[in-house]
Amino acid sequence: MDYDAATGWYNPRVVPYQPISLDPAAKVFHYGQTIFEGLKAYLTDDGKIRLFRPEQNMARLNRSNARLSIPAVDEELAIEALKQLILTDSDWIPSDAETSLYVRPFVIATEAQLGVNASTQYMFMIIMSPVGSYYAEGIHPVKIHVESHYVRAVRGGVGNAKTAGNYAASLKAQEEAYAHGASQVLWLDGVHRKYIEEVGSMNVFFNIDGTVVTPALNGSILDGITRDSIIRLLKHMNVPVEERQLSIDEVVTAHQEGRLVEAFGTGTAAVISPIGELTWEGTRYVINGGNTGELSQKLYDTLTGIQRGTVEDSFGWSVVVEPS
Ligand code: PMP
Repeated sequence: MDYDAATGWYNPRVVPYQPISLDPAAKVFHYGQTIFEGLKAYLTDDGKIRLFRPEQNMARLNRSNARLSIPAVDEELAIEALKQLILTDSDWIPSDAETSLYVRPFVIATEAQLGVNASTQYMFMIIMSPVGSYYAEGIHPVKIHVESHYVRAVRGGVGNAKTAGNYAASLKAQEEAYAHGASQVLWLDGVHRKYIEEVGSMNVFFNIDGTVVTPALNGSILDGITRDSIIRLLKHMNVPVEERQLSIDEVVTAHQEGRLVEAFGTGTAAVISPIGELTWEGTRYVINGGNTGELSQKLYDTLTGIQRGTVEDSFGWSVVVEPS
């Protein structure tokens, strides 16, 4: 659908996937005024199509919109659009247990005007694509590079919005992580350069002596929907969980003292990604012998079970997509 300042949002429509035409002066190209979301739909064993907490994605979409001076979209309408789009072409959804449909809602500023002020015109779109299993051969641990030079976001910036610039700012460090044999970057805070923020496209958790610690939301970390789900699951399982400031030194000390039991990232793509190794300033820290931890595996099984309708969903997170 489209927006202009005089009309508000208008003309919601489902059209075949195709290129779109934009003016070269469209503000999105020059000032990065754009936000996006990412969620998954699953075709489950009972033949139903399920979305995982879509209302959380749409609420976050509007928080990102607000930070980028983009007008809010009607969240219920956006979820309805999402469902209709999925049902329009539900044959797309792979039926084997490992694959899913990735859904990408996004907003771009389309006004053709060079000048740093908020656009008066926007497009809200939803595209989707089948995605294979994140883990082709079962859940396995990743290597993470702790970034000590570049910074992804600072407090008061746009780090807690899902906006393109945050990802553009991370590409250089991501390349260096690859060069170090790691698959993702672990970001530290921009001021003290020691407090852990998050991993490339995941939030991060450390099991220290049986207490699971994750950095508190401080304005520069994305408030992941998987992060929130994991915190709730841990509480439900009576596992102590703390959201607080956590420095890289504390993690290294816990590792040296044998108290770092396991570490894992959380996000829509991988759900749970065990961390087998951290590298920081030239030193390698192997976690849990480089293996998937017990808790990581349990959380992965529980959350993917809820998403696919094979584990009881006592939280009401799984939303069945049905014709209305
Ligand atoms: N942090 C960043 C920077 C991300 O891009 C993502 C993926 N959306 C996450 C964390 C995890 O968020 P979620 O659990 O909502 O996918």
